[in-house]
Amino acid sequence: MDAVDALNEIAFWLERELAPTFKVQAFRKAAGIIGGLDPAEVAARARTGRLKSMKGIGDRTFEVIRQAVDGGVPDYLEGLRERGQQPLAAGGTELHSALRGDLHSHSDWSDGGSPIELMADAARTLGREYLALTDHSPSLKIANGLSAERLTEQLDIVADINNDDGGGNFRLLAGIEVDILEDGTLDQSPDMLDRLDVVVASVHSKLRSDRRTMTARMLGAISDPQMNVLGHCTGRLVQGSRGTRPQSEFDAERVFAACAERGVAVEINSRPERQDPPDELIRLALDAGCLFSIDSDAHAPGQLDFLQYGAERAASNGVPAERIVTTWPLDRLLEWTGRGK
Ligand SMILES: [Zn+2]
Ligand SMILES: [Zn+2]
Repeated sequence: MDAVDALNEIAFWLERELAPTFKVQAFRKAAGIIGGLDPAEVAARARTGRLKSMKGIGDRTFEVIRQAVDGGVPDYLEGLRERGQQPLAAGGTELHSALRGDLHSHSDWSDGGSPIELMADAARTLGREYLALTDHSPSLKIANGLSAERLTEQLDIVADINNDDGGGNFRLLAGIEVDILEDGTLDQSPDMLDRLDVVVASVHSKLRSDRRTMTARMLGAISDPQMNVLGHCTGRLVQGSRGTRPQSEFDAERVFAACAERGVAVEINSRPERQDPPDELIRLALDAGCLFSIDSDAHAPGQLDFLQYGAERAASNGVPAERIVTTWPLDRLLEWTGRGK
């Protein structure tokens, strides 16, 4: 087995089960190190044990590489593959299999942990027909948000990945998770947004604003015709290493009515620590006639599989597949985002 593939696949399975970042990064880093070497040299160094003395190769990564160059599937990977056969979520299986794509993901260009190419490869492997790359916008400095210049550069890389797809039917969509600023405007120029396939807009600051302020802020963004998806609308955190955070206060009836009127999809954010919106708001949005987008908000390749959690929540709240834009074929999706021409 190819040692780089083995290390990356191990990282994938660990990310999927939310293993600590340092643990995952050891495998990603080792893959990067030996990926830059001649495979014959890697094999020779693995057999003699010399690889062990390289910076960034530890006992466990060495053992994985050694077993891979010996031609087998490393034991550690074998165990993870077995565990990975278990679905992440018990319900929503039918809806999950109807999902074609994912409109929210991050690369190491903002606060994700992996290069764009690895995110695209993993999405392809998971059978997605499309994945939107939605790195953060400039005002989110803590997450290394992209300036217009960096986003322009990123567009070329996205185009290259699509050109190199080798006749497959996977498409990496150019996108953004743009901040909804305090005045309700979007944190990127209209010209720049116009060059993208998908615009997800989210609130990331002043989450404790009073109800009137937050409602006005969200309505302002939703009235912008370039917005397609309202990301993690309450901002709550229900578990995980970042602790918990209550949901933002806003007039959900007015916000969802505006989404329905404008054709903006309400995101069902699949991250286990977010589970956003809460059940009662999913049902409110459903009654308001909203569209939905089940997104992973993946910050690493293995997290792309989180869609299982989102599908389970959508199904348990009675959201029909037809109302979920990520079950739509790509041409219909792009027609809806207004970028299909
Ligand atoms: Zn976000
Ligand atoms: Zn995000």
